[in-house]
Amino acid sequence: MNKLLDKVAIVTGGGSGIGRGIALALAGEGVKVVICGRRQQRVDESLALMPDGSQVIGVRADVSQVDDVDRVVKTALETYGPIDILVNNAGIGGSGPIHSHDTALWTRVMDVNLCGAFHMARAVLPSMRQQESGHIVNISSESGLEYYPGNGAYGVSKHAMNALGEYIQRENQELNIRVNTICPGMVVTEMTENSPGLDHNKCLYPDDIAELVTWLLTRRSNIKIGTPILIQTMQNPWGRT
Ligand code: NAD
Repeated sequence: MNKLLDKVAIVTGGGSGIGRGIALALAGEGVKVVICGRRQQRVDESLALMPDGSQVIGVRADVSQVDDVDRVVKTALETYGPIDILVNNAGIGGSGPIHSHDTALWTRVMDVNLCGAFHMARAVLPSMRQQESGHIVNISSESGLEYYPGNGAYGVSKHAMNALGEYIQRENQELNIRVNTICPGMVVTEMTENSPGLDHNKCLYPDDIAELVTWLLTRRSNIKIGTPILIQTMQNPWGRT
């Protein structure tokens, strides 16, 4: 039996890369998907790739803006009904040593990577709590587990995202709401593909993350898989192992 058939999901940052891969995988499982993204054109491109017969809509929205987030959730509820799954995937890069970090960049990275996930979770949790079910998947990063000097706002935002997920889990566990945080190593996407020295053959691809998300979403409802999940390749993508 297809456990995900007719579930309702929101995937943020679904206009490209990992988010697009997750949206495609969920639509293929019969999930009703709301793709949200900052760039309308990229959201439309994702919609055009969805399997025939799938139920997927796109909403242009910036997750750092509370009004945009509320509009995404309202649209999802009105179009498909109660939200079962939230995938907090939208994110941007932005780094530098702390002592000289650009302050505007720092604020923007936190606004998108951390506050965006907080806004989205805050907007869906009341209905998840009411229905006593729900699943939130946060796409964090290996940078959220390691401490790479110079990783700056990006690394700090991902560490904080892991903590956000843990708080949400503990506050809502009694209400049957599950949270998983995934920390990928290098994935070939727009964010990374032109990084000098990156060996694409030693990287992950969006499908790898999408398969893990689908697997997590289809465990028995009583199963808790805690702590951030690190997913990498077996090789160092930056050079010889
Ligand atoms: P990507 O740039 O292709 O995807 C990010 C998406 O988020 C884009 O479609 C972008 O338009 C959207 N986005 C950015 N700001 C937004 C905002 N304010 N509101 C709504 N949407 C917004 O890159 P990706 O690699 O697919 O990244 C997806 C997630 O995976 C990010 O959170 C990233 O930090 C994380 N991640 C990526 C890698 C990697 O190696 N690519 C590794 C670990 C974690």
